[in-house]
Amino acid sequence: MKRLTSWVESANNPDTDFPLNNLPYGVFSTDEGPRCGVAIGDLIVDLCLLEEEGVVLISGEPVLDAPFFNEMMELGPKVWAELRARLTDLLILDGDDALSGDPDLLARALISQEDATMHLPIVVTEFTDFYSNRHHATNVGTMFRGAENALPPNWLHMPIGYNGRASTVVISETEIRRPWGQLKPPGQDMPYFGPSKRLDMELELGTILGTGVKMGQPVSVAEADQMIFGYVLLNDWSARDIQAWEYQPLGPFQSKAFATSISAWIVTAAALEPFRTEAEAREKPLLPYLCETKPMLYDISLEMDLTPDGDEQPTTIARTNYKEMYYSAAQQLCHHTIGGCQMNTGDLLGSGTISGPEPQSQGSMLELSLGGKQPLTLTNGQQRAFLEDGDTVTMSGHAQGPNYRVGFGHCSGKIAAAIAQPDWSK
Ligand code: CA
Repeated sequence: MKRLTSWVESANNPDTDFPLNNLPYGVFSTDEGPRCGVAIGDLIVDLCLLEEEGVVLISGEPVLDAPFFNEMMELGPKVWAELRARLTDLLILDGDDALSGDPDLLARALISQEDATMHLPIVVTEFTDFYSNRHHATNVGTMFRGAENALPPNWLHMPIGYNGRASTVVISETEIRRPWGQLKPPGQDMPYFGPSKRLDMELELGTILGTGVKMGQPVSVAEADQMIFGYVLLNDWSARDIQAWEYQPLGPFQSKAFATSISAWIVTAAALEPFRTEAEAREKPLLPYLCETKPMLYDISLEMDLTPDGDEQPTTIARTNYKEMYYSAAQQLCHHTIGGCQMNTGDLLGSGTISGPEPQSQGSMLELSLGGKQPLTLTNGQQRAFLEDGDTVTMSGHAQGPNYRVGFGHCSGKIAAAIAQPDWSK
């Protein structure tokens, strides 16, 4: 697909994350409270205002006057396509001039991204985290259980996941507080209580469900694909020492529940459509319900930077690609419903850490530093095995088209010191 030209000049820069081909949705505020918007170049178009003025009509009732996109998403794929087509027509060069030809509306509806504060774009109704990247599962499994038992016996047959916490999903740039927990160093008989010493990130893509399914109504992979509204960058912060002690037999609990960051802009499945790509060959044939009817991964380059406190210079510590996944979001969603689990508008599914086969293509410090044994050297000469207080982790990603890119902006978080020791006597 070729680049679409907009009358918003910054949208035509080949390096912008937000050309007209993208049109990602986000919730922003300036002096007024949070409201729905769409990014174009370095600007935001106020969708709440466009709906109020009748320039964008979605349904009989206003749905863009809330500080989240859930009501719009619930209306389903036909409405998503109509809104996208209408916005394209309003923003394309020589298109409908209802916005571009109205100086008064333009002055009120266009906001510089620099002047806006971003908020969670949806009410996150539930959060499930998967473990669907073979490189990551093999690397971590080798460290936790040895090379012989790296991949659990079920791994090549189903996308493994656990039900996480929606309550602690936060917007990019929210400070991440180092968690306290039970720690049990190897060789010691008893655990002790302390702040995590092995704080880590996980580079993931988050899938946002636009429509849901009722309890007891499984969906096929093809149906699941149609329910996906879009994607965000996702950092599944992880306390490895807490995780290593608590994870058997029910999986992560406190080690992941303290924070999950997502990027501010939802890149729609529609914008990513030209970048679909096949998953790798299956080592074992999948059960029929999990087989894909068409390519369902996307070619999205991903990058992760680490910047120590007070430092200007980030170090790029990993580069990878979403096409390295073994299971797609559609397969994960299908599998999620097969036993009868209800899924809702605003459900968030984490892909699982996205690692590649090459050096410096792993999406976690655990893998990049070989379990802490080989610390990374940063641009400023400092070494890191795990994250230190004051470190900022920034993730970015984009799909590359001819002379344009469909980008995700960034997902970042800075590590804050643990709270003072809680008082258990009160
Ligand atoms: Ca994860």
